[in-house]
Amino acid sequence: MKRVVALIPAAGRGRRMGSEVPKTSLLLGGIPLLKHTLFKFETCREIQEVVPLVPVEEVPFWEEEILQKKEIKKVRRILAGGEERQDSVFLGLQAVAGEAEIVVIHDGVRPFVSPKLIKKTLAEMENFQAVITALPVEDTVKEISPRKEVVKTLERSFLWFVQTPQAFTYSLIFYAHEKAHKENFFGTDDAALIERLGIPVRVVEGSRLNFKITTPEDLLLAEALLKYQKQER
Ligand code: C5P
Repeated sequence: MKRVVALIPAAGRGRRMGSEVPKTSLLLGGIPLLKHTLFKFETCREIQEVVPLVPVEEVPFWEEEILQKKEIKKVRRILAGGEERQDSVFLGLQAVAGEAEIVVIHDGVRPFVSPKLIKKTLAEMENFQAVITALPVEDTVKEISPRKEVVKTLERSFLWFVQTPQAFTYSLIFYAHEKAHKENFFGTDDAALIERLGIPVRVVEGSRLNFKITTPEDLLLAEALLKYQKQER
């Protein structure tokens, strides 16, 4: 079995959340958001180690919350993230050099990822070097000018919303990040760095429940979903 390491970028500062508290330490059902996400990777058999990246000033908090409490055994170190998400991921990749054959990258702010989706993503790694999760767009999408006028309607049948998890062979994603870093290229996800190398990226269907918690409204929905899932169990 290949050694699979999960990198969990969670070093965003949550400006859109309108709070001083970094997003992943906000409570969801009384538990910090990031912990929900980490538990999903803890229960996924295919994952050997989970490495969260948090804001530098939050490292002691998370060391106490995760390493001291020993509930999440696959997390053995907490790393400080960087300025942008891409910097956080690159720092994580450098830290696990020589220790991973496959890397799964997943946003700390997507706590409703299921172990099944992680598994499905990894299964595609049998045939590809890069795999992402995404959902077909169901709304109409239009290009809008800065003056808030419609430019045009886009052809929806080719458009997908991209999520994480995203999985890559370590050597490829490290090379892609190193190259992007040298060339000062910033993508909004990790797969974008592979696409610019002309290497195929496989898509597997994600889940509507695997949404990103970015705004106070998202947190409200997350609380409701968590309650529902607890009742269902
Ligand atoms: O801000 P964005 O929506 O891109 O955040 C996606 C994920 O990347 C979040 O889990 C966030 O905490 C993380 N992030 C990070 N380092 C940054 C910015 C965002 O790890 N500098």
